[in-house]
Amino acid sequence: MIIKSDTGIITNTDTPNLIDSQKVSMRKNPVKIAIASGKGGTGKTFISTNLFAILSQQNIPVSLVDCDAEEPNDHFFFIGDLIEEKVVTVRIPSINSESCRFCGKCHEYCNYNAIFYLPMHHQISVLEELCHSCGACLVACGHHAITEKEMNIGHIRTFFIKEGNSFIEARVNIGVYSPVNVIKAAIKEADNQNIILLDSPPGTSCPFIHTVATADYVVLVAEPTPFGMSDFKKSIEVLKKLNKPYGVIINKSTLGNRNLYEYIEQEQIELLMEIPYESEIAVSYSEGKIISDLHPKWHKRFEILYEQIKEKTCK
Ligand code: SF4
Ligand code: SF4
Repeated sequence: MIIKSDTGIITNTDTPNLIDSQKVSMRKNPVKIAIASGKGGTGKTFISTNLFAILSQQNIPVSLVDCDAEEPNDHFFFIGDLIEEKVVTVRIPSINSESCRFCGKCHEYCNYNAIFYLPMHHQISVLEELCHSCGACLVACGHHAITEKEMNIGHIRTFFIKEGNSFIEARVNIGVYSPVNVIKAAIKEADNQNIILLDSPPGTSCPFIHTVATADYVVLVAEPTPFGMSDFKKSIEVLKKLNKPYGVIINKSTLGNRNLYEYIEQEQIELLMEIPYESEIAVSYSEGKIISDLHPKWHKRFEILYEQIKEKTCK
């Protein structure tokens, strides 16, 4: 694995952790662990990249998927060889105005207001940025005036980090209404791994839901601030609805107040880890460095974190 650090290139010299490798390789399907948060900037990427580094050093086959397709930033922490780039496309409708009878049925069927329709002026067109490729307008049109065409909505890039370890980035094109299809394609790309870490998109809307819905376990990262609290509660509601097992990491635990702690105690949510606000963490992160590579204390803490998660996913 090649990681940016003070010391330059780091080569893994650890003895392979055969017990872990064997244990996870016995599974038929990969273990997917989503690292998520109800809002941006809480430290998801910090947790994801450190877990990836720890697992890589233990020679556990693992992929990190950056699912924050609107603003992927995991690549700042790793240098790898680009081995594959795939364009993600969707099929969107195309209206032939010569065959169209301007009946308005397609406009009526479209739940996303993606068909611009002005019957008085015989104007109709598909607003491609709003189209969700649901196909309803094709079904609605009884005059064979709608066909489909491919539209490029983004791409996924796979980087080789070291044997058994890859990093996959989802990136949606600017102006595309939803990154969900790009995220799904990126997660599918990692399917041949034993462990897949999903650095989830922030918030609790569709991109978040589609990412955590595929996970076996969700690590929620939260901050003990009033704003963080409200987003945290929303993400818990989503996870409960999806019936997903989860635990919590409190980042910048020395800031804010005790409300978050009281809430997780009351809801009996497992506290996996606390990360105090420390300037060395902030500085190393801003420089694109992995803290667990720099400080044995953090290396140990992320190893323990992985052990805790493993207990819940390798039963
Ligand atoms: S495919 Fe669906 S979202 Fe797109 S224009 Fe047709 S009905 Fe609307
Ligand atoms: S349903 Fe077909 S015929 Fe009717 S307005 Fe839409 S494209 Fe035209």
